[in-house]
Amino acid sequence: MYNFGDCMTSYIDPYEEAKKQLRSTVELLGLGYDVYEALATPERVIQVKIPVRMDDGSVKVFIGWRSQHNSALGPYKGGIRYHPDVTMNEVIALSMWMTWKCSLAGLPYGGGKGGVRVDPKRLSIRELERLSRGYFAALAEYLGVDLDIPAPDVYTNPQVMAWYFDEFSRIKGGLYYGVVTGKPVEIGGLEARIYSTGLGVAISAREAAKKLLGGIEGRTVAIQGFGNVGYYAAKFLEEMGAIVVAISDSRGGIFNPRGLNVGEVISVKEKTGTVVNYDKAEKKITNEEILELKVDVLIPAAIENVITEANARNIKAKIIVEGANGPTTVEAERMLTEAGVIIAPDILANAGGVIMSHIEWVNNRIGGWITEEEARRKLEEKMIASFNNTWNFWESKLDKTRHNLRAAAYAVAVDRVVKAMKLRGQL
Ligand code: NAD
Repeated sequence: MYNFGDCMTSYIDPYEEAKKQLRSTVELLGLGYDVYEALATPERVIQVKIPVRMDDGSVKVFIGWRSQHNSALGPYKGGIRYHPDVTMNEVIALSMWMTWKCSLAGLPYGGGKGGVRVDPKRLSIRELERLSRGYFAALAEYLGVDLDIPAPDVYTNPQVMAWYFDEFSRIKGGLYYGVVTGKPVEIGGLEARIYSTGLGVAISAREAAKKLLGGIEGRTVAIQGFGNVGYYAAKFLEEMGAIVVAISDSRGGIFNPRGLNVGEVISVKEKTGTVVNYDKAEKKITNEEILELKVDVLIPAAIENVITEANARNIKAKIIVEGANGPTTVEAERMLTEAGVIIAPDILANAGGVIMSHIEWVNNRIGGWITEEEARRKLEEKMIASFNNTWNFWESKLDKTRHNLRAAAYAVAVDRVVKAMKLRGQL
């Protein structure tokens, strides 16, 4: 807690949080402090200076990072975010979470993450291109098809990936399609990448509902956040027979106990900028109220730390599926676990994006082609296997009144990384 005169700001350091989660997993698995220390420290963190020639002729300097947390299971994998508030510790924490996410999904990848401290909305398209090329060029010696493979994250998109790919190929001489994933379809990307995270979230919700409620058909769902993850999760859940009763975005939410038409809601959002203008809803609700609705499944798919000790007791959903990264605080999770609420954690539920990235990367490496149906089927198989693996560990090895599915997901993920490190003589 920092005290700036009258203004009290509480700051949660994500790297400290990530280390706490790691420590409790290491304890749960009965492993020693040496293991904790080996996993808490990233293998390499690179800071780069990126001078960019602005359109007015001046030069502006930006700072960027790439954290390569662990490569025991394979090349580092993880997105690059452009954000004015990004910090080195945030990037390190995100790279650690990627190690666990890839491990849990059974992918031959380690964990990495990158960030550039910039407000991309203030740059012209050409300035953004120069920044992106500059960042990738500064990191080129640390990246590679078998070394470190970035992807999109907050405020980076397929166009930015195209510039990265082009810059890397120019520097190295050749065409290195597999050096980034999430590329446009014309240069080695996959059609299914756009909806893969949302589809994975919907599959996680369906599998959890099968275990706990006898199926997803006819079950009610509330979704906070209606962007890439929230929209596609809603669309696929509707197709699976669930009733999407509430949807929100940053401007507020809408509720209809008989169900909303997801296709109609997205066209209203596209036309007017927000779901709030959808006029067939029974009533408008706030982003606080959407979390406390009496529904079967709640999907936070917007931002972090929305389910806290302040509202955990009011949550009535039986299942929470984390589309967003880190929506539930540690204390809220303790309260929800005691109350018997099942949480499909972020590293499990939102892994669809990185799984599809792996399918893209394999396809690029073999110079092959894959149909959208085939890519989707592979994603579905992997999500179900990952869910069952986590569920079985939880049921057979953990005290369910004290631990939620997150503890099981972390245990499975960390155990796999530790085994690989031991086999490689790193531990
Ligand atoms: P997005 O920018 O496409 O959409 C975010 C949505 O959240 C928007 O509808 C926005 O209006 C809404 N929102 C923003 N602030 C809000 C608030 N305070 N209350 C309610 N709604 C709010 O982002 P996205 O790609 O859908 O990502 C959402 C979350 O999922 C993030 O935590 C992200 O890290 C995580 N995630 C995304 C992917 C992916 O492939 N896109 C993969 C893994 C995890």
